[in-house]
Amino acid sequence: MPSLTTPDTTTNAASDAISMPRLLFTDLDGSLLDHHSYDWSPAVPWLSRLKEHGVSVIPVTSKTRSEILPLRQALGCENTPFVAENGAIVGLPADWCHARLDRHIGRDGLVIQTLGVDIGFIRQRLNVWRARLEETPGMAFTTISEMTLDSLCDFTGLPDPEARLARLREGSEPLIWEGDENGLDALRQGLAGDGLQLVRGGRFWHATGHSHKGSAVNWLIERFQALKGIKPQTLALGDGPNDTAMLEAVDQAVVIRGFHGFEVAPQQTALYRTDATGPTGWAEGVDHWWGRDLCPVTSATLDTPGREEVTR
Ligand SMILES: [Mg+2]
Repeated sequence: MPSLTTPDTTTNAASDAISMPRLLFTDLDGSLLDHHSYDWSPAVPWLSRLKEHGVSVIPVTSKTRSEILPLRQALGCENTPFVAENGAIVGLPADWCHARLDRHIGRDGLVIQTLGVDIGFIRQRLNVWRARLEETPGMAFTTISEMTLDSLCDFTGLPDPEARLARLREGSEPLIWEGDENGLDALRQGLAGDGLQLVRGGRFWHATGHSHKGSAVNWLIERFQALKGIKPQTLALGDGPNDTAMLEAVDQAVVIRGFHGFEVAPQQTALYRTDATGPTGWAEGVDHWWGRDLCPVTSATLDTPGREEVTR
């Protein structure tokens, strides 16, 4: 039976995780990562604690696969799956692979599952609908692939190398909406006929297929159950409207106070809304649901980079 926990010989993590397996799904931008600085140091004590207890922390983000790969290393999540491009792409490490279903293991040791629609089709249909709706009032947008690298850096605050990775799309196309509600409805209707949808994130709208963060999270929970034969306890944290389906797919959910001012209202009875924003709110949310169950094991194992800057 594959292990889905992080090996840790210094604690009783293994027995803890087996008796009550837990999966934590988290949005990145504006949640685990600060909306402006992309810093996550306020979350480091909890990331270490989750690792000690063998809990998988699974990034679920609008970011691309190329952006996530270095980030998951830095966050200490290199042994857990990830969801990229709002649910269009799922990356599986070896422990999460199914011997019969996942045969194409990449050189990085990951199996990539495409749950969404090919990026070429999405870009083609966006162009078609822009031309068809040219006369429609309030119809204006710029896609991420149409932006210059400089304007993308300005808009996102990302440095040049990371902005380049953000443009390597596989299953969704972010766009800046420059029109009004009327134009948005028209584009939405047009794309719906193509089997595509528009999902709102923190900075961008995202044109995607019908996969979303919630469907990818459900897929991963089912995969966990298929491999382990046990239902995990699940928690999800997010700050944007595109996190809604993910927050509805789990046992317990946290809406992190955002900077964008958009309403995030999941149909979820076990819901906690944080006072703090970004990674400080992230730690507040994990503490609310799991603080009593997952006690700090030992301060000696807080060895995640960046811990010196921790300010909780
Ligand atoms: Mg977010």
